[in-house]
Amino acid sequence: MEMKMYPFSCGSYVIDRGILDNASWGEPYEHPIPMFAFRHPRGVVLFDTGHNHRGLADPRKWYGKSVDGFLEIRVTEEDCLPRQLARAGIDPSEVTHVVLSHLHIDHAGEMTSFPDAQFLVRASELPFAWWSAPNQRNSYIFNDLKDTREYNYLELPDDADFDLFGDGSLVCIHTPGHTPGHQSFLVRLPGHEKRIALCGDACYGPSNLGGALPNSGVLVDVPRWYRSIQRLRHLENCGCELWFGHDMEDWRAKTEKAMNRK
Ligand SMILES: [Zn+2]
Repeated sequence: MEMKMYPFSCGSYVIDRGILDNASWGEPYEHPIPMFAFRHPRGVVLFDTGHNHRGLADPRKWYGKSVDGFLEIRVTEEDCLPRQLARAGIDPSEVTHVVLSHLHIDHAGEMTSFPDAQFLVRASELPFAWWSAPNQRNSYIFNDLKDTREYNYLELPDDADFDLFGDGSLVCIHTPGHTPGHQSFLVRLPGHEKRIALCGDACYGPSNLGGALPNSGVLVDVPRWYRSIQRLRHLENCGCELWFGHDMEDWRAKTEKAMNRK
C-alpha cells in the first residue's frame, strides 16, 4: 500500500484580512481551516484537527472571548474532522498519530476525538498553550485542551527535524514565531515529484513569503517568524510545493489539483 493524503477544510472563518497580511485592514476575508489525514502503511496520521464540534451549539460558552476575533465562524458539525474522516472511510479509532502544528482553536480543536493516538507536538508548545502570552490567550481554548493532559505525547525538541516513520514520507520541521512550538509538515507522496510543505500558520499565504511585514498581531516572536519564513522560502527554492495555512485561492487550487491526481 502506498501512502495517500486526504486534505480537508473544517469549514471556514471570516476575519479581517489585515490579521493575515498586516496590510488589508478592514477587508473581510473568508479563509479555509486546513487539516489532513494520511494513510501510511504503518498507520493513519493526522496533521491538525480543525475546529471543535462540541462548542458549535453555544460558541461563547465553549470558546469564550475568542469568538470576538472572528467576523463569522462558518463551521458546521459536518465540517468537523470526525464527520470528514467518516466520509473518507477512516474510523477515528484507526488514527495512530496526530501531528499538531500548534494548539490554537482551529488546529487542536478535535484532540479529544483521538484519545488513543500518539500526539507529536513541540515540547515548547504545550506549556505555552496552557498559559500563553496575553496577546494569545484567546487563541487557545481551555475547553478544547482541559481533558488532554494525560494523553500520549511525543514532545519533540525544538529545532530538530523529526522523520515520523524514518522513510522521509512525513517530516516535522520546527517553524516557530507564530507560537514558540509551531511546526510545519513535509510530505513526500508517491508519484508526486514535488515534495509538499504544509506550512500551517508559519505562513498564511503568499504575501507572507516576502517577509517584509510581520504577518499579524498573532505572533509571539518576530525574528523567529522571519527565520521560519526563510526556511520555507529555501524549501520552495529547492522545488518544494508550499501549501499555505489560510489562503482560500491557494487552498482551492491545490486541493483541486490533488483531486485530479487521484
Ligand atoms: Zn494559529
